[in-house]
Amino acid sequence: MPEGHSLHRLAGQLAELVGHDVAATSPQGRFDAAAVDGSRVTDIQAYGKHLLLETSAGLSLHVHLGMRGKWLRFSPVTGPALKQVRLRLATSDLAWDLIAPSTCELLAADGRRALLASLGPDPLRPEADRDEARRRLQAYRGSVGAALMDQAVAAGVGNVFRAEILHALGIAPSRPAREVGDEEFAALWLRLQAMMTQGVEDGRIITVDAPSGGTRTDVPEDQSRRVYKQSACYDCGTPVVTTTLSGRTSYACPRCQPA
Ligand SMILES: [Zn+2]
Repeated sequence: MPEGHSLHRLAGQLAELVGHDVAATSPQGRFDAAAVDGSRVTDIQAYGKHLLLETSAGLSLHVHLGMRGKWLRFSPVTGPALKQVRLRLATSDLAWDLIAPSTCELLAADGRRALLASLGPDPLRPEADRDEARRRLQAYRGSVGAALMDQAVAAGVGNVFRAEILHALGIAPSRPAREVGDEEFAALWLRLQAMMTQGVEDGRIITVDAPSGGTRTDVPEDQSRRVYKQSACYDCGTPVVTTTLSGRTSYACPRCQPA
């Protein structure tokens, strides 16, 4: 599933629609495109793993990509959208096609408010309140590994960032969330902001060092992380241990992240 960095990067790319009147269609027929067809896009923002596109029709388009969703960009537009496209947003010279999202819906102001109220602070958003994220994490009844996957604690963190940030801080995923100290959380949040910001820039999650004489993005995808889906810890070589937390496989180094 795309993590928060992907959505923030997408929001930056989709921002080219802001200020334009868009033709909205749903070739698949599973979205009420007529409600926003011909309206002007006034803003687009990512909140955690959610995208909110504002329109002059007074409605917000809410998209969550889920496991398989994606946006495809066409410029120039060479033909009609494929029939599986849930939503095409087109200007006179380009089109963005949304395919297989888990959510594509229109929200009025109250629905938009409720969505944002359901999300915890997003480390990639400038207004994110670190103390609020800390309170939510420390109040979580479960492990820190599970807490970080809860979008009501910190929005945008997924399985890769969970594994890599806990490894970076030397915290075992199984440690109770309430036992994460204030200073420890402050360090975690700062590191998470840096890691996710780098992810927006790279378009990938790369936590290992750049190879000598090369750049970060030269690192092959399957070797880009220190513990996530690795057999041995990048830092110390100890075999990585996996467990299941919040229904997803958790990766940790027992030496760098002692229980
Ligand atoms: Zn290690």
